[in-house]
Amino acid sequence: MQSRKKPHYLSGEVLKLLSYCPLCESNYNPLRAKVLEEKDEAHLLHIQCSNCGGSVVALLFTSGAGPTSIGLVTDLTSDDVLRFKDQTTVKTDEVISFHQFLFPTN
Ligand SMILES: [Zn+2]
Repeated sequence: MQSRKKPHYLSGEVLKLLSYCPLCESNYNPLRAKVLEEKDEAHLLHIQCSNCGGSVVALLFTSGAGPTSIGLVTDLTSDDVLRFKDQTTVKTDEVISFHQFLFPTN
């Protein structure tokens, strides 16, 4: 369970996607994002806003034409997310299904 200190995939586009809080719309430092899970091109991040204290769980995809992120407002802490994840065994297929649910291609 080592945290990864060099999230190389946080390129400019991704930083832009993760650079503000969807709750209070204040800017925050995306480097505060905690990487909970990495699987191929999908990354599960947890970000807590230092302004309003709200938490966002973001699914980040770095494959395809460019990075895509899905932010979910949550009241879970990163520890909660990890516990939830371990219970349900999130698979890449499920992440992709969720992505397609939110962004249907047709
Ligand atoms: Zn906020």
